[in-house]
Amino acid sequence: SAFEYAPAPESRSIVDIAPSYGLFIDGEFTEAAEGRVFKSVSPSTEEVLSEVAQAGEADVDRAVKAARKAFEKWSALPGSERAKYLFRIARIIQERSRELAVLETLDNGKPIRETRDADLPLVAAHFFYYAGWADKLEHAGFGANPRPLGVAGQVIPWNFPLLMLAWKIAPALATGNTVVLKPAETTPLSALFFADICRQAGLPKGVVNILPGYGDAGAALVAHPDVDKVAFTGSTAVGKEIARTVAGTRKKLTLELGGKGANIVFDDAPVDQAVEGIVNGIFFNQGQVCCAGSRLLVQESIHEELLDSLKRRLSTLRLGDPLDKNTDIGAINSEEQLSRITSLVEQGEAEGAERWSPACELPSTGYWFAPTLFTNVTQAHTIARDEIFGPVLSVLTFRTPDEAVAKANNTPYGLSAGIWTEKGSRILAVASKLRAGVVWSNTFNKFDPTSPFGGYKESGFGREGGRHGLEAYLDV
Ligand code: NAD
Repeated sequence: SAFEYAPAPESRSIVDIAPSYGLFIDGEFTEAAEGRVFKSVSPSTEEVLSEVAQAGEADVDRAVKAARKAFEKWSALPGSERAKYLFRIARIIQERSRELAVLETLDNGKPIRETRDADLPLVAAHFFYYAGWADKLEHAGFGANPRPLGVAGQVIPWNFPLLMLAWKIAPALATGNTVVLKPAETTPLSALFFADICRQAGLPKGVVNILPGYGDAGAALVAHPDVDKVAFTGSTAVGKEIARTVAGTRKKLTLELGGKGANIVFDDAPVDQAVEGIVNGIFFNQGQVCCAGSRLLVQESIHEELLDSLKRRLSTLRLGDPLDKNTDIGAINSEEQLSRITSLVEQGEAEGAERWSPACELPSTGYWFAPTLFTNVTQAHTIARDEIFGPVLSVLTFRTPDEAVAKANNTPYGLSAGIWTEKGSRILAVASKLRAGVVWSNTFNKFDPTSPFGGYKESGFGREGGRHGLEAYLDV
């Protein structure tokens, strides 16, 4: 089936990491014009995994020219031909998913259980899903002959390196666009493996170009006059900067930014199931998830019972070697992210919230943060408002459904929320009042390529995934 994957072993020997990688432009790996390189480091061991060419402005120009040239032929192919390439890419991802899962775990720090069971199956599923649309665009409800936009400049973050690539590249190619993608500076390796998969699939040269590098390369890509469409996932601050760059140009823009999701637990919720959902909501990928359930809103009458169960469950989580298939909590992606989390947590304590973590030994090398709960949190606290993007849960209480809705909506963000109750009518009533792009009920962090994903308010605009994800890459 489209969703099968090979179980990944816990050994890093499964993946062959080259000592150095080039930029991928016009179907070839090449040095950066200025000869610059940077190191990709494993956050769990601080081992240098590889040295990677660092793109600059001249490389962006070269890649955009290659994508422009490839666009003429790629966009003229019948959709059924583009579908063949996408299906081929999807199948190779499945075949190489063991390598890719280990590579992603090494470069990002997240547990192999997650890369194996969540990231990689979803990556393949996205390519299968959009391959299926490529020859049906005239039936997508966008009119008889929707047209591709041209060259898409895509900038992605480090928290789901390969999955964010799939969200961006699969719909772009299915609709006949060509792509220049810049992966995040701390996680370039799986995107470079993907470049190799494009070659293996025989994808025509220049249709996909991958430019590892820093924010300056991302900014140059966004500003390039021959880019027709910009797609960005990352922080709200950089998203706003990109919106300013794009304003006044002909470029189309979609932004997927931060979040401060609320998990709302009512007094009739199945407590054990809710505890699992809360844990998954905030500790999946060490909480470095834009749609994380980083605020727990619990009804006052079950506050104590729920917190006791939650603390007991947190005491069973295993933190450590992300390649160990029993590990629940892996490493934080970078030293910079670790210090961001640390400073927000210190601020939470300084403002008077109560901090709790289970007894938990942190490895001496690498970047680690213990699962953390904050109680006695009020709406005025920074940790109730700002995105921490780490394994830190802020607990607040409420008495009535209206109060829960008001508190859940009281943030500049609007990406995700969860509702836990046995009452179907309450799920519908509360969900319709939440200003969030996705509302899960009695579950959390469930993803599917058929569902559109995106934010309200400062979480961004535009949708990725599903039929709506096609719209961002078409002139209708
Ligand atoms: P970031 O915004 O610093 O970086 C994201 C990407 O943008 C990286 O590739 C980076 O090199 C690039 N970049 C940096 N400055 C740039 C500039 N001026 N112009 C163009 N590109 C630039 O964010 P991050 O630290 O990598 O990721 C964490 C943040 O991303 C969190 O706030 C999180 O909420 C958000 N995020 C959102 C989603 C979503 O779907 N909404 C998904 C993942 C992450």
